[in-house]
Amino acid sequence: MIRATTCGRRAFLLGLTAFATHLVLSRNGTGATVAWRPEGSPFGLGVASGSPTHDGFVLWTRLMGENLPTDQDVLVDWEVFEPDDPTRILAKGATAALAQLAHSVHAEVAGLAADRWYGYRFRLGEWVSTIGKARTLPQAGTPARIRFAYASCQHWEHGFYAGYRHMLAEQPELVLFVGDYIYEYASSTSAFAVRHHQLPAARTLDDYRARYAIYKSDPWLQAMHAHCPWLVIWDDHEVENDYAGLHSLYATEHFAKMRAAAYQAYYEHMPLRPSTMLAGVEGLLRGQELRIYDRVAFGRLATFHLLDCRQYRNVAVDKSRSMLGFPQEQWLDEGIGECTRQGVHWNLIVQQNRITPANYPSGAGKNASVDRWDGFHQSRERLIGSLVRHRPRNTLIIGGDIHQNWVARLHRDPYDIRSPVVASEFVGTSITSHMGRSQKEAERHAAQNPHTLLVNTEKRGYGVVDLTPERAEVALRVLDDPRQEDSGITTLARFVVEDGQSVRFATNQ
Ligand code: FE
Ligand code: CA
Repeated sequence: MIRATTCGRRAFLLGLTAFATHLVLSRNGTGATVAWRPEGSPFGLGVASGSPTHDGFVLWTRLMGENLPTDQDVLVDWEVFEPDDPTRILAKGATAALAQLAHSVHAEVAGLAADRWYGYRFRLGEWVSTIGKARTLPQAGTPARIRFAYASCQHWEHGFYAGYRHMLAEQPELVLFVGDYIYEYASSTSAFAVRHHQLPAARTLDDYRARYAIYKSDPWLQAMHAHCPWLVIWDDHEVENDYAGLHSLYATEHFAKMRAAAYQAYYEHMPLRPSTMLAGVEGLLRGQELRIYDRVAFGRLATFHLLDCRQYRNVAVDKSRSMLGFPQEQWLDEGIGECTRQGVHWNLIVQQNRITPANYPSGAGKNASVDRWDGFHQSRERLIGSLVRHRPRNTLIIGGDIHQNWVARLHRDPYDIRSPVVASEFVGTSITSHMGRSQKEAERHAAQNPHTLLVNTEKRGYGVVDLTPERAEVALRVLDDPRQEDSGITTLARFVVEDGQSVRFATNQ
């Protein structure tokens, strides 16, 4: 964080009038804002961008600091400028950091040019945030390529975020984060923890806020957020292990209230649009739906279908059983159909778990874990039905949750490898979260699941995908040791999906 060395605020604003700027004043709150003069930088949790469209994105930060007025909103200025030249301002505005949302800022920037990088930063009084970069998306046509990374499961105590340092060096244009951004557990007492946050298990809004503040204090996580927009979905640990809808595995008392607090804290710390709160801040505070499932199109090269496999999950043992809930299933079916009509080259099904079977020999309906798609085979059949009916050109599935790398083919009949392949799936691993399962045991398991191309339980890391109209190249990147801040990285394996084909192993370099 740097202290602004320009002259006073008035002179600064006057100096801007020579530029073509547009002023946006977005206020989610209704109350008047208060002038707050922090003693130190209020931007200690960093900056982030997300929810990109062809003409804008959401810019995020959260104010922190002593004497932050707990019940009053604070107006924060933001600027969008030419990459690498903060003096060439292209848009600016002011957005209220709402006291009731932990003084988080979700500034919606619109009216920018398509398919272009921008720099941005926030200002409050004399304090200036670090500079972040964001990009708008191509509106039409088929871009020649995109590189994106995917990651999940970043237990802060289980390792350092060396993975993000390496991811940064690979310069992805988007990051897909597919869940377990935080873990709600009490501070770990286990031998493999490398750092301790000393917090109790998260239950209340203040608990979840404190947890995000710890995680977001990490400099490499901050650097990765500042580098490019993230597309984010949650899994279970943003609330409680293995929950489903309003069902707590542990029969936790007042679970609905706890979930509402956890969802609110998630919104407060992610670069999501205010419109994800379907009934505004008041609705969010009353525990209403937070609509994080979303569709993001990168021209006609790729469409990312971001799914929410937790909020609407229904574990009833009858026709109402569903992984996504019927409205979201319908929305996904329509989206896949629309992508086919528009000639989209790559459909990305971005979700939290594993869609291909783990229980191949036992078949559908048996070994029906309610924490996996295996326990929701009707939902999986309806998804496969959409893929068969709409015949999208290519479908890739991205998943997380299990802290293991699995690469597999999804067949029209997921329990018959003689049936046509309808999608290729890449799951995991984790950025840091521990996995105790032995590689030998997993290999025995994989051998009984002949749609599987790779399993690895022992490595932490992330994936990098290079997409062109002709092919997808996927590199599984793994750390030497997540317990070392300066850990090196290697490539566990590379896979290729040629246009119109299913995934195949490329090389183990
Ligand atoms: Fe996890
Ligand atoms: Ca999980």
